[in-house]
Amino acid sequence: MKVFIFMHIPMIPNPAVSPSAVETNHAPAALAHGVWRERARRVSRWVMGVCALGLVQSAEASSGAVERPAKVVIVKADDVRGDTPKWRRFVADSEALGVKVSLGIICDSLVDASPEYVEWLRALERSGRVEFWNHGWDHKRWKNEAGVQLMEFKGTGPEHQAKHYGDAKAWMIKVLGVAPAAFGAPFNATDADTEAILRADSDLKLVFANRESAAAGKFFAPISLKGEHDGTGKPNFEKFRAEYAEKPDLTLLAFQVHPQSFGEEHFGEYAKIVAFLLAEGWTFALPREVVAWTEKKAAP
Ligand SMILES: [Zn+2]
Repeated sequence: MKVFIFMHIPMIPNPAVSPSAVETNHAPAALAHGVWRERARRVSRWVMGVCALGLVQSAEASSGAVERPAKVVIVKADDVRGDTPKWRRFVADSEALGVKVSLGIICDSLVDASPEYVEWLRALERSGRVEFWNHGWDHKRWKNEAGVQLMEFKGTGPEHQAKHYGDAKAWMIKVLGVAPAAFGAPFNATDADTEAILRADSDLKLVFANRESAAAGKFFAPISLKGEHDGTGKPNFEKFRAEYAEKPDLTLLAFQVHPQSFGEEHFGEYAKIVAFLLAEGWTFALPREVVAWTEKKAAP
């Protein structure tokens, strides 16, 4: 707004120069005075117009026009490891449907990334239609000697987790130039060590999780509905709609999908779910947008 005013401010006449210029044209003093009065009126009308515009914008802000929409969905697409045909199709389909999507990167894929992969990531980041989030380093799970199931961010200890979280974040900064604002653990599996790491990261604003405590005081984006009712990479519109009907009070939703595992029919099921949510009045947003809306709402 300040730039707008600066760029459009009319030339204010300089009295030290202009009257003498008028005099050299032999204009009567009364006429010169009239010209000045008219110019002053024009500037005054323009200033009043700018002030009125400002008032309209403030009114919009206070009336809630820029606040968080009533029903917000974040598409949480997991497991980016490369610029595959399925990922490219998923992004293109989403754009054609008119919705923004957030993509979780498994960040060890960035270490030996091809120039094409890097350029694809950067172009999407620049587009403003896609936001990348930290989906950990290697997405591994295994059993220890005692037969206990360990996952990248569950049961693996603070050192292992801090290294994986920190390396993933550092590589995202290196490739995309910006720290990820959101995190979602592989398998959505975390423990108290993860929560301490998330809480300590001031760049992190939003956490995708199944339970609020796992969000570690960050903005909690709940995976309240299954995105894929027939198993990983297998969305099913009718089953989605049935579960949706059982939860009529939802206002915020992380809609989780694994596009790299989609079969041909699943792109169609995904499109049907998106169209359904749009028809139901949901706004598709990126994690950073949701956090910004919330921060505005919380401001005095
Ligand atoms: Zn995953």
